[in-house]
Amino acid sequence: MAQVTSPEELFVHELQDMYYAENALTKVLPQLAQEASDRELSRAFTRHLKETEKQIRNLERVFQDLGETPQAHPCPGIEGIKKEHDDFVQETKASGQVLDMFLTGAAARTEHYEIAAYTGLVSKARALKRRDAVELLQENLRQEKETLKSVESISKRMLKEASNGSSTAGRRSRAGSRRSPR
Ligand code: FE
Ligand code: FE
Repeated sequence: MAQVTSPEELFVHELQDMYYAENALTKVLPQLAQEASDRELSRAFTRHLKETEKQIRNLERVFQDLGETPQAHPCPGIEGIKKEHDDFVQETKASGQVLDMFLTGAAARTEHYEIAAYTGLVSKARALKRRDAVELLQENLRQEKETLKSVESISKRMLKEASNGSSTAGRRSRAGSRRSPR
């Protein structure tokens, strides 16, 4: 890791961290959309993939605004959340409703992580008087907050369905063992 000795360098370091995280998420989100059997959840992942691609372009614009080449610095935070998912799926063999519930939790953890990161970046950009950066980073922050909200409402609906025993409502029809009997 390069030396970080000033608030400006810390800002760039944290940008590189998020640049890594967002790029990693563009690979994870299509997989999550596949895994989800709940239609609304699957669509939420696909929609957020599109937003994530835009977030990466916003980060690139912030780098350019600072006269920096966009560069990713490995982010163990996001890798940890991803590993937690991978281990769970592999070890538990969860499927259907239970897997969907797990995925909403993993998504909420990810969004909280991103919200914390972007909140810090927006504050730093503001302190450094980087107006363009403030706007671009705020756009990303807004999208993460919106995504968290929709994931939370999907999660609430799922828990309600589970307690009512109506596990087939809103479920994507798919061939194989995941389809519940009607
Ligand atoms: Fe993001
Ligand atoms: Fe996100």
